[in-house]
Amino acid sequence: MLFPENRMSRASLGKATGLSRTSLSDISSEMIGEGLLYELGTEAAQGRGKPGTILAIDPERVRLACVDLSQPCVATGATLDLRAKVLNRHETVFSSGEEPGPDDVMDLVRQLVQVAGGKVRGIGIAVPGVVSPSGTVISSSNLHWDNISIRDIIEAEFGIPTYVDNDTNAALTTERFLGHGGENLIFVQLTRGVGASTLINDAIVRGDDSSAGEIGHIVIDPNGPRCECGKHGCLETFVSATALEAAMRKDPTSRLSLLTSAGARLGRALTMPVSLLNIHDIVIYGPPEIVGDVFLDACRNEVARLSSNHFSRGISIRRCEQGADATLRGIGIMSIRRMAGRRRP
Ligand SMILES: [Zn+2]
Repeated sequence: MLFPENRMSRASLGKATGLSRTSLSDISSEMIGEGLLYELGTEAAQGRGKPGTILAIDPERVRLACVDLSQPCVATGATLDLRAKVLNRHETVFSSGEEPGPDDVMDLVRQLVQVAGGKVRGIGIAVPGVVSPSGTVISSSNLHWDNISIRDIIEAEFGIPTYVDNDTNAALTTERFLGHGGENLIFVQLTRGVGASTLINDAIVRGDDSSAGEIGHIVIDPNGPRCECGKHGCLETFVSATALEAAMRKDPTSRLSLLTSAGARLGRALTMPVSLLNIHDIVIYGPPEIVGDVFLDACRNEVARLSSNHFSRGISIRRCEQGADATLRGIGIMSIRRMAGRRRP
């Protein structure tokens, strides 16, 4: 309720959470002690009651160290404050074809922890791939990681609570907390691959094997080009940022037709989940030169053309406007929630 920049008195927090005065006082004192909240002064006294103390997220005492592994050839790290504001950045660049391993992530985290001068209380790592609830990367075809318990590795090295999640889930979290996303949202990310994340009643759908949203290798055209997974015509071969950028480099005059047909193909693929779940808000996150009006219009037209007219009204397909840091800030927000959510009254 206080994230990122809300200010509320203990009394209003009590009303909003339904917590008793004592529970709220215990919990907030504990969170103040840990550097998560601070007292901002007192509100004007109302009637004969004692003036209440105003609480807010403390942006000064605690730092997070976050790493985003979603982009090709670079591991992006940053320190963040508890309002998910990016403070210091560190990047490790890899040559083409090379990908970061756990040791590279460890080195990056070490630099971030050092620059924050002992203030880091949480570490977040966003990974393109399937991540288990215990922070093990079950598989990441982009990073060539299989069953790497990166959370345990990082926690053992630094002794700081670490949270690991899928990159698309992280970016969706930024759209939810800092963007315009509501409690129900389908979020599609176009990077090297195509990933999706679905929020229903404010909970991310994870699935039986933590692989919900792995839609990149669904075949949408069996006569399409061969995919690196061995099948033909996977969604990723038509719609990933990497595939589209390569095709546009090869034939720059085909830009419009490529974006139109890619938008339409994504729209076709989305028609079923949109109708199945009756979610109105679809957000697409990717490079601005791809996720522009041509791509989005083609996607919208296809969803409208293929959905039942009665139900397709009101569906919004829009671009994520949270910028290049959406994934980094999202994994930060997830770490903050984990820190704050440890306690239960
Ligand atoms: Zn494939």
